[in-house]
Amino acid sequence: MNIKTKLRLSIGLLFVMILLLTLISSKYIYSLRDDTTNILADNYQSLEYSRNMLTALDQMQADPNARLAFQTNLKKQKANVTEIGEAEATQRVEDHFLELLSDRNQTNALPLIRKDISEIMGVNMRAIQAKSDKAVLTVKSAIAWILIAGTICFIVSLTLFINLPGSIANPIKALAESFREIAGKNYAQRVHLDRKDEFGQLAGSFNTMAEKLEEYDNSNLSRILIEKKRIEALINNMHEPVIGLDENKIVLFANEEALKITGLSMSDMIGRSALELSLQNDLIRALIQQPQTASTSGSQPALKIYANNKESYFEKEIVDITITRTGERQKAFIGQVIVLKNVTMFKELDFAKTNFIATVSHELKTPISSIKMSLQLLDNHHTGEVNEQQRQLIESIREDSDRLLKITGELLNMSQVETGNIQLTIQQSKPEQILQYALDAVKTTVDQKDIKLMILVPEYLPDVKADLEKTAWVLINFLTNAIRYSQPESKVLVEIREEKNAIRFSVKDEGKGIDSRYRDKIFDRYFQVPGSAKTGTGLGLAISKEFIEAQGGSIGVDSEVGMGSTFHFELAKA
Ligand code: ADP
Repeated sequence: MNIKTKLRLSIGLLFVMILLLTLISSKYIYSLRDDTTNILADNYQSLEYSRNMLTALDQMQADPNARLAFQTNLKKQKANVTEIGEAEATQRVEDHFLELLSDRNQTNALPLIRKDISEIMGVNMRAIQAKSDKAVLTVKSAIAWILIAGTICFIVSLTLFINLPGSIANPIKALAESFREIAGKNYAQRVHLDRKDEFGQLAGSFNTMAEKLEEYDNSNLSRILIEKKRIEALINNMHEPVIGLDENKIVLFANEEALKITGLSMSDMIGRSALELSLQNDLIRALIQQPQTASTSGSQPALKIYANNKESYFEKEIVDITITRTGERQKAFIGQVIVLKNVTMFKELDFAKTNFIATVSHELKTPISSIKMSLQLLDNHHTGEVNEQQRQLIESIREDSDRLLKITGELLNMSQVETGNIQLTIQQSKPEQILQYALDAVKTTVDQKDIKLMILVPEYLPDVKADLEKTAWVLINFLTNAIRYSQPESKVLVEIREEKNAIRFSVKDEGKGIDSRYRDKIFDRYFQVPGSAKTGTGLGLAISKEFIEAQGGSIGVDSEVGMGSTFHFELAKA
């Protein structure tokens, strides 16, 4: 039975019971009222008429109006005959009264009239008694019936009072609880209501919904799990070692290659803090270390790791993972992925190239030097006179061999730098001495281009901690560049000044300057500003940087296009 019918039936039953109770009560009240009214109308009046007739009879001798009063009351009595035997008694009163009227001496008639009136009174008094008894009986049965109806009403109300609120509220409570569980993603929740009413249907619909949600959730979960497996397989099959960290540097995943190079097992790594692991594992420490600066491209040295049964080189890349969470705008950092690129092959090729360059430049140095020597001999008048044309040819050969010597020198220096074989002899050196060394070297070039070389050196300068030869080489490189990239007859200023803890060497020219896009790149190997004369090798500044940084100093350039450039380096005071 559904709730609607149940409610209708219960309230209807209550309604019927109340109606029944009202009807029963009314019926009995009406019948009691009828009884009372009847007693009054039927019997009380008759008694009144009889009493009046008796009074009139007594006064008849003295009062002539008494006869009329008797007749009036008799007439009323005749009209009010209600009881059995009353009509006969009234008739007898009339008969005897007529006899009394016809014969005044008929003294017998008087007692007979009195007797008849008494009979009328008696009949009515008995009737009153009987009606009173009946009323008492009516009251008794009224009480009984009202009690029965009232009790049924009470039982029905009590049953409804006890059962109805529970039968409506309990399933609502159970459903509300289940909805809360579903909201908390407990899709296994079901409602068990063994009823066929609306609540039963609601519970059925709820269970279907929960089942579908569970199915959907499971299918989503399994899809996510499949995706996770796929990504794991993908990462595992990568030849590059990959390690994933969360925002607290807890290791989330590591592929086979990463395990191989770190020498750790899966259980050693997963779920452990990378910081904690780095205390025991040097490689992990090197991996999680953030790059210091990202200023110069490719400046991160490759990591040398023993892998694949040989010394291998890896380039580390740390990728920050950020996501925009649902409903949020700001990106949130959720972790990092460390990828190691195996660059061993490139390194090997690089070594081979460096060795080749070193060998070739070394081998070229001797023949070039002997060419230079021969040129010097040719210049000497003991070897014979040369004409003007021959002299010019000799000069051009000298320039070319000087350039060749410079190039081979730079290549040799570079191969030393690349193999990490820079031999430094750092000692307490005089800045003026370094300057003089450089000025001597560029003297001819300065003269050739008619450059106005200005020197700004304070009277007193403290010594520097430097490798004299290498530092002079850098200064020479600065000066040759300044001369090379300046117009003839322009000014070049060489300045040495004392700073807080260092001595700063700078060369300022009035050349075309360097575009800001290339300012960082000019210190990279083989880089030449696009559009500039390709006379050099693009190695000079790279070697200078290596030389200065190897001595613990710093190097840099300030430049504006069209305003010239100032190349400078600083070395620590001795
Ligand atoms: P290079 O042998 O080509 O001079 P460097 O490493 O010495 O190699 O210089 C790299 C590049 O920087 C040069 O090719 C040139 O374009 C630019 N450069 C160096 N010095 C100057 C300067 N004083 N003025 C303008 N450009 C310069």
